Formats: sequence, structure tokens, C-alpha cells
Amino acid sequence: MRGEEPVVNEALKVRALPEGSYDKLLEFLKLYRDAVQIVVDRIWDIDEKLSWKKLHRLFYSDLVSMSFRAHHAKEIYINAKNLMESAKNNGGRKPVFRKLSARVDKYDYKLDLDNMVLTLKLHNNYEVKLRLVTSKERVEKFRGWSNYELVVKYEDGEFWISIYFKRIVKSLKPRTVMAIDLNFDNVTLTVFTLDGKLIRLKRFNTPHKKILTHKIWIEKIQKKYPKSWRFIKSVRKAIEKHGERIKNISWDYAHKTGNTIAKLAFRHHSVIILEDLEKLRENNKKRDKEFNKRLGLWFYRRIQFCIEYEAMERDLEVVKVNPKGTSSKCPRCGGRLVEYGYRVLGCKRCGFIGDRDVTATINIYKKYISKYSRCGVFGVAPNAPKPDENPSGMQGNKDEAMTTKS
Ligand SMILES: [Zn+2]
Repeated sequence: MRGEEPVVNEALKVRALPEGSYDKLLEFLKLYRDAVQIVVDRIWDIDEKLSWKKLHRLFYSDLVSMSFRAHHAKEIYINAKNLMESAKNNGGRKPVFRKLSARVDKYDYKLDLDNMVLTLKLHNNYEVKLRLVTSKERVEKFRGWSNYELVVKYEDGEFWISIYFKRIVKSLKPRTVMAIDLNFDNVTLTVFTLDGKLIRLKRFNTPHKKILTHKIWIEKIQKKYPKSWRFIKSVRKAIEKHGERIKNISWDYAHKTGNTIAKLAFRHHSVIILEDLEKLRENNKKRDKEFNKRLGLWFYRRIQFCIEYEAMERDLEVVKVNPKGTSSKCPRCGGRLVEYGYRVLGCKRCGFIGDRDVTATINIYKKYISKYSRCGVFGVAPNAPKPDENPSGMQGNKDEAMTTKS
């Protein structure tokens, strides 16, 4: 449906045992570290932007003459450049590398998942075989993925390998549409058939209030010690504790919700429709700062990140639509919605009445349908719900939509 196909990246980190002596591997890691240092030392004071081409010209032959292979050389100068840039961005001094760690291109290793053996090509054309110390089940997942780079590390007498895998997600053809509306106090999800019947409705309460409580604590403490909070250990510790809680609560929630939503979407063969948060920000640019703070855009991002990730794991497609008007426009006639009571919106023009959040999901669903039906995604252009078949699970029946916590 869209141009580029989404890609999932994941790293497999395992301990590895060299077969036989590991002198050569250690020698390689030291040589590699020193080479990265040499490159960083030499480019540290160069102000112009260094393209890969330039780096290649500057360092390739030197590195090869240090007995590195061609792709080792490339990895070394790219690595050096990245390390230098991040040191400079952090306002730091020229770094001095002590740790033994090397990034290795896919051309310089061979991975045998059947026998759990990794062959690394080292300097001077040495080779070392390493046995991956992990269960078969853990690596089984990556069969059929493509591997591209790895990082080998030596730490406290042990070798660790992180192998980076990627996989192109082939989207399943959707049979239903799942629209998701993120709110301060809940996440509302609806599933529609392609011709507009509402077949599922679910609401998850968010821990936003809890998060806010910790935030208020932090602000109170900072207000009490406006100048000194950074420097008094106990005060700083207290702030960190609340920050840590916020982090845990929000990630826990995002993971759980993302997983539940993707599972449900998988069961219904849904394409998942989310609001485009970047657009949301643009639409509200004027009161951006306040808006961001109030609604916790960072938290929505976290939830969306987990939904997208879990969806990709299941080969489900995720589409984002501009959220403009989703909570103010009548899904039936396009008129302006006004508040009719607690969480209820209504349209004076056509008489539509609906739960605030469910109405938003209907609008999200409609945006998706109108955007993609033109491309003939479903073969037949589906109709937007007609007034009489408008999914109105919000009209006060026993639906989950009405089980809002008050
Ligand atoms: Zn209306």
C-alpha cells in the first residue's frame, strides 16, 4: 500500500566462547581499539564535515597496512567518526578508549545458527571460531531474518557478541480497521468492518493521573529548593526516585497496552490506525509547550511506539492519520460537535449523539477509509458509514464503551 516496506531491527546478545586460544581475538580487539583512537586523534581538530569518501581517502590505506581487512577499515573510521561526534555533541573532551569492543561488518563474519557457531575474520587473515552460549530457542526466532553487523566485546574475562538482525515486514491484507484514540485518562479502541460496522470496542484506563502525581512531587521539591536541588544529594535522590517511577509506570503501561492491542488486531486481521502525533503538534503549535505538558505527548509517543513494534512483530500494518478535527467534527454530517454532558458530544445539525472518545475513533476510521479507498485498497471502495448504520455503540447500551470509570 505504501512505498517503503517497514523493517524490524533486533539485536541478539549472547556470550561466546572461542574455540581454542583466544589470543588472536584479544589482539584484534586491542588493535581495533588503538586504530579507532588514532583516527579520532587525527580528525578531532578538523572542522570541516567529513564525508565517508574523505575518511576513506584519509585512512583506508593506513588501516589496511595495519593488517586490517577492507571492511574492518571502513567500520573503524565510521565508528571513530560517530564516537567523535557524540563526544563533541556532549561538549566533552577528546575521548580516550579503554574498553575492548569492535563493530564488524557482515562481510567479516559467518554465522551458523544450526551449529551455533560464529566465525570471525580478524586482522592478518586470522580466523576465530566462537561458540554461542545460549539456547536454541532464543536464536530460532531469527531464522529467515538477515543479519548485518555485529559487535564483539571483551568484558571481565568474557566475550560478548551482539548480532544485529533485520526483517522486512510483509503486511497481511486487512479484513477490519482498528481505530485508536489516545486520551489523557484512557485509550479507546474500536474495530470496524470495511463497510463500517462497529464490531469491537475496548477502553484502557491510562496511569496518567499517577504519573502526574509524581510530576507534581518533583515540581514541589524543585520549588522548595529552587537553586540547590541539584547539589543536595538527598533532594536529588528524591527527585530521581520520582523520575524513576514515572519511567517504570509509563513503559510498563506502554508495553502491556501495545501487546494487548496488537494481539486483538491480529485476531481481527486489522490494519491499525493511529493519530499522527507530529501533526497533532503542528495543529497546536501556538500553545505547544503547554499542550505538550498537559497531554503528555511523550507518553502517547511511548504507547504508539509499543503498538507499532508489537504490530510489526505480527506482520500487521499501522497507518497514521492527521488527527485534526477528530474530536470536534460530526462523523455523520461533518457539522461541529458540542458538549452534551459528561464525555458526550452531540451535533445540533443532524442529531448525532455519541461518547466523546468513540466518536473520535469513528472519525479516525473515516479518515483512513477516505484516504485509502481512492487507491482501491480493498478492491471495492467501501462506503463510509451511512447515518442509519452509523456505528453507535455509544448510544447507551451495555457496550464496553459505557463502562467508563467515574
Ligand atoms: Zn451531524
